[in-house]
Amino acid sequence: MIEYPKITLQNGKELPVLRFHPWIFSGAIKTQDTHIKDGDVVEIYSAKQQFLGMAQYQKASITGRIISFSKQQINIDFWVNKIEKAFAYRQFLNLAGNPHTNVYRLIFGEGDGCPGLIMDYYNGHVVFQAHSIGMHKCRTDIAEALKKVYGDTLKSVYDKSSETLPKDYSVSLSNEFLFGSCNEELVVIENDVNFYIDFINGQKTGFFIDQRENRSLLGNYSKGKRVLNTFSYTGGFSMYAAKHGCTAVHSVDSSVKAIAMCNKNAVLNNVTNHEGFAQDTFDYLKDHGKDYDIIILDPPAFAKSRDVSHNAVIGYKRLNQMALQNIKKGGILFTFSCSGVIDKKLFYNTITAAAIESRRHIKLLHTLSQPADHTITPNFPEGEYLKGLAFYVE
Ligand code: SAH
Repeated sequence: MIEYPKITLQNGKELPVLRFHPWIFSGAIKTQDTHIKDGDVVEIYSAKQQFLGMAQYQKASITGRIISFSKQQINIDFWVNKIEKAFAYRQFLNLAGNPHTNVYRLIFGEGDGCPGLIMDYYNGHVVFQAHSIGMHKCRTDIAEALKKVYGDTLKSVYDKSSETLPKDYSVSLSNEFLFGSCNEELVVIENDVNFYIDFINGQKTGFFIDQRENRSLLGNYSKGKRVLNTFSYTGGFSMYAAKHGCTAVHSVDSSVKAIAMCNKNAVLNNVTNHEGFAQDTFDYLKDHGKDYDIIILDPPAFAKSRDVSHNAVIGYKRLNQMALQNIKKGGILFTFSCSGVIDKKLFYNTITAAAIESRRHIKLLHTLSQPADHTITPNFPEGEYLKGLAFYVE
């Protein structure tokens, strides 16, 4: 049995933890054992010495991330249990074991009881991404646990944490396979649409899985429409539009690599009415915005922290205004924000302001969010980050 070092909280600071919020802020700590190192597992106690949880330690503003609210040994079995639970939930969601979709998020951090950990499943390959040192230190055990849960169907586990861990983390970080390899040109299927995935060189873990349901919805509106997919990445929305009978679809992304992949995905799906443009969205909209019935705006997070959220609002407003000014009568705007610090209300109000300034009347068709494999729990509202709105434009 391993003995874990202890941290005791200030009086009253146990309350959020008793409501299952998994973060311990540095200011909540009263005392801690000496020699606790970054990434160590610690036991958390209230000021009255009530056990609260097992956490991973990191000397930072969020000092403890709770991985269990009961006293446990943190070993391979612990991770097997976590992954089995997450996997069973994806089966329940009809994602794991579905012949029409073999790409899903297996672990979404706090939402799946694993603060600081993201794991995405791509047709037999798992991309592991640690956002905390504790999770990175557990990577070998987690890879072993994945093997136990998936058995022979697991082809590889790839650690892609070099850009998501703190820059001052002492371990020299390189992305690497923890198990197996991927020598094939990997193709996944999502709602019967095919995509090449390059998780090694692609952005984030390789694909923006969080837009699956919104892509489906866009598909339903696409028949007979001219569609512009901006910030397209590898053409997720574009392929759905084409598969559902749009007359033409254009993808715009500033990344040349992303547009090359878009074009490859079009060939893979036998799409012949797609064109990709490696260009800045703002420039493209200025010159060509008038040609479309449907415009999709899915920019990267404009704000990563609260102190720059006003800049982000200006950015979202300018972008949406450009789309709204241009979109054809009777068209649809699909607009998204993945900035955690821009809440739903603020995003809605920003688009409202953009519509007023562009003198267009709009009707709300759908309020959109992230799919359930990007798990949201009421005890961790911070996990809800993706917001989308679909508007009919008169
Ligand atoms: N909608 C995509 C994901 C978009 S991610 C999907 O479903 O897969 C955001 C994308 O915006 C990235 O591919 C990034 O390269 C691109 N990007 C960032 N700034 C841009 C800009 N100013 N103009 C065009 N593309 C941009």
